[in-house]
Order: sequence, then C-alpha cells, then structure tokens
Amino acid sequence: MRPTAFERHVPAPSVIAESLRDTRDAVFWTEDAPGERFPKLRGTVEADLAVVGGGYTGLWTALRAKERDPDARVVVVEARSVGWAASGRNGGFVEASLTHGEENGRRRWPEELEQLDRLGMQNLDEIEATVRDSDFERTGTLSVAIEPHQLEWLEGESTPDSVFLDGEAVRRELDSPTYLAGRWDRRTTALVHPAKLANELARLARDRGVEIFEDSPVRAVAGTTVQTAAGQVHARQVALATNVFPSLLKRNRLMTVPVYDYVLMTEPLSPAQLASIGWSNRQGLADLANQFHYYRLTADNRILFGGYDAVYHYGGRVRERYENRPASHQRLASHFFTTFPQLEGLRFSHRWAGAIDTCTRFCAFYGTARGGQVAYAAGFTGLGVAATRFAADVMLDLLAGESTERTELRMVRERPLPFPPEPAAAVGINLTRWSLDRADHREGRRNLLLTTLDALGLGFDS
Ligand SMILES: Cc1cc2nc3c(=O)[nH]c(=O)nc-3n(C[C@H](O)[C@H](O)[C@H](O)COP(=O)(O)OP(=O)(O)OC[C@H]3O[C@@H](n4cnc5c(N)ncnc54)[C@H](O)[C@@H]3O)c2cc1C
Repeated sequence: MRPTAFERHVPAPSVIAESLRDTRDAVFWTEDAPGERFPKLRGTVEADLAVVGGGYTGLWTALRAKERDPDARVVVVEARSVGWAASGRNGGFVEASLTHGEENGRRRWPEELEQLDRLGMQNLDEIEATVRDSDFERTGTLSVAIEPHQLEWLEGESTPDSVFLDGEAVRRELDSPTYLAGRWDRRTTALVHPAKLANELARLARDRGVEIFEDSPVRAVAGTTVQTAAGQVHARQVALATNVFPSLLKRNRLMTVPVYDYVLMTEPLSPAQLASIGWSNRQGLADLANQFHYYRLTADNRILFGGYDAVYHYGGRVRERYENRPASHQRLASHFFTTFPQLEGLRFSHRWAGAIDTCTRFCAFYGTARGGQVAYAAGFTGLGVAATRFAADVMLDLLAGESTERTELRMVRERPLPFPPEPAAAVGINLTRWSLDRADHREGRRNLLLTTLDALGLGFDS
C-alpha cells in the first residue's frame, strides 16, 4: 500500500485546528443568497402539470413546460423551500456530460456517445443563454494528476478546447506542489452560484405564471392528484422531481441511495493570498483519484473545497444529523493545506454536507407510470447541475407522448438495476468504497470486486 500525497505531506495539527476554529455549520450558498419564500399549498388547486420537488429538476421542468405552452397551468409543490437540498448546496460545477463523465457513457452506450456529447453541450449552451444572475462563468475544468499512475489518464491529443498541461504548465495555472500534470477542458464546464441558480429558476418560472408552493410535503400521488396534509393539486399530469428523497412511486424506492458528501468554504482570499496560488483563469478543479476532491473559486474569491469522503449510512435515509461529521471536515481541511501550503493561516467560514443522489449507473434514469401521465427523473449521482435541465426536457417529452431525439436514446429508455435491500446494500456499498480507497493506495489497481462490478456495469460513485 502506497500512501497518497495527502498522507505523505500532512499539515501540522495546529494548522487544521486553527482553520476550523470558528467554522459555522451552515451552507454558504443559501446563506449568501436567500431565496424568495412561497406560500404553503392549502385547499384544492387545478393544474395541467403538477411538479413535485423544487430543486433544479422541478424548477427546470416547470419553466420548460411554460416555454412549451405559455397557457398551461403549472404548479410546483416543494416539501421545504426551493433549492434547500442538493440544488442549493452543491459545488456549482455545470458540466455538459449527461452520463457522469465520458468514461461511464462510453462503457454503457458507446454507440450514442457522440450524440450524448452533442446534446450535453447544447444543454450547457442553452443554460448559459438562459441564466443572468447566477454568477455563471464558463471557465472549464482542470483535471489534475496528483499520483504518478494518474498521468496516463490525462494522455491524448491537445485540441483548442482540451489542453494537456505538464507539471510546470499546470502549476502556472494554479500552484500546488501536489500537481504532476493536468488537462484543461475549456468549454465543457461552467461554474455557478448554486443557490442563485435555484432562485433565478424559481423567479423565471414565477414570472411566467408558475405557482410555487413551499412547506408542503407531498404524502401521495393518487392517480394524478398530488396530496399534501393541507391541500391537493388535481393535475392532468405529474412530474416527480424528488431525486434522492423517498420516491412517491414504489417501483423507484430502491433505485437511489443517499451518499453523504462534505464541503468546506474558506473566507475570501486577500489579493496577496490569491497571488500566491495564481488561478487567474478561475477553472473548476478535480483530481483524478477514486476518492477525489473538487474545488473552485467563488465570485468573492473564497475557495470551496469538497469531496473525498463519500459516506453511506445503514438504512439509506436522508437525515440532517448525517451532515455533522467532524472527521470528514477535518480530513478536508488537512487535504486543503497539503494542496495549498501557501495558504496556511486561512480560515474556513462554513462547513456543510449533502446527500448525493446515487444510482447504480451513475447518471439519471427516466420513465413514466400511471399510463404515461406521471413522469420521473432521478439519480444524477453528483452530476446534476446541468443534467437536470436535460431531464426536465425528457420528462416533458414523455408526458407529451412525443418521440424525440431524447426519448429515442437507449440511455433514456433503459432503467438501471436497483440497489439490493438492507443489509446487502450497506455491505455492498461499504465494501466498494473500501475497495476504491485501496485502489487509490495501489497505483489505481482495482481488486476483484471492482473489476467484477465494472464488468457488470454496476458500482458506486459520488
Ligand atoms: C455536496 C454536493 C455537491 C454536489 N456538487 C455538484 C456539482 O458540483 N455539479 C453537479 O453537476 N452536481 C453536483 N451535485 C449534485 C446536484 O446538486 C444534484 O444532482 C442536483 O441538484 C439534483 O437536483 P434535483 O432537483 O433533482 O434534486 P434536489 O435538489 O435534491 O431537489 C429535490 C427536491 O424535492 C423535494 N421533495 C422530495 N420529496 C418530496 C415530497 N414528497 N414532497 C414535496 N417535495 C419533495 C425536496 O425537498 C427537494 O427540495 C452535488 C450534490 C451535493 C449534495
């Protein structure tokens, strides 16, 4: 077993303790950009389309439905508040990929990859053309090798949009002693302020006449009637956008599991601190380990630093108490100062966690129920900021009974395998996680469990 860069160069415990001394347990994004509040659903409302869930999937579905038919009566019913869940607490990487990365798409739907890439890029371009107030920056992603065995994963021709950077060149972009090389994909990723994006989508939808209700958990969908404790929506059609939360359709209960992902946000960097690391092109960053980190700058030059630990809790429930895991935040702080020793003394202002919407094929699945009048999309597996808009279009195509380029895709028509029930789910997921960590410590070599899962097209990822 070979120690990773983060184990070979561990910062002093006092550096980590000091950086976390006054860190608040709160999501920076939603605190920075609180959204407008909407009323609770009471009594009976009639609608053409009821959307359950007020994250990106639900909001895009409502907005796109109005763009297709401005006269349609569209209602969104949200259990808590718009964008409080994954949509308000993610890293803000808006990636073109609809398949959770090229490799996953190539393995599962090789004949569709070119088409999926084109549709994903078009989806990202259309997001760019829609949003105005979400700190959208199309800076691309820099993927960095931090261990020698990762170098070959960066190989390939440089093109104007995808540039290989050797060690010196990558450190000219962003100066970390851990970087061995990198690849900058300039067009496939943008960054946003996640909560501003949710707020903007809600505002755009509202301005087009969508009625949004908050604090209204849906208890059941009976036929196409959406029922809450205080009211109901008699709808002609329903779109379920509840993602990692318990599905309102029994058939989808075992399709997703929540895997907790942890995040730190620093205080704003001073001009001198920023100059010490560079980063003038402001790319989103990800390293190439199985247990990877992702990080980025905010508009006011804080650094968001997240990832690495991916924790599944027995029973597969979404619970607020799982968000408090000091060991994961301390590990992130340690890895942060291994990455940027120049920033010793910088403090973290916020720490939080969120449930990743994991499914066995690592990207969203789609379908209908109730004679085609109820559509669903879920399971973005940590890459849903852009893909939720594509999912909204797929659901609307399906509800319209239309055969489109999207609905003809094998990727859209196929459903993934479910996770097994407990205790098998916890055993399987935790063994897989352990194996991925081992692979990071064995020059990337995958054990029998991982190679078997790879061959079966199954697995676990964040
Ligand atoms: C920490 C973290 C970092 C991430 N980073 C990235 C990233 O950088 N890039 C990326 O592409 N993706 C990222 N993701 C994933 C991305 O955030 C999600 O895929 C995306 O936000 C999913 O949107 P959604 O609307 O489907 O789900 P959600 O945002 O979870 O919304 C679902 C909504 O449904 C509501 N709901 C559930 N059940 C009911 C019910 N019965 N009645 C009424 N309402 C209900 C919930 O209250 C919730 O508001 C990250 C996720 C996390 C947690």
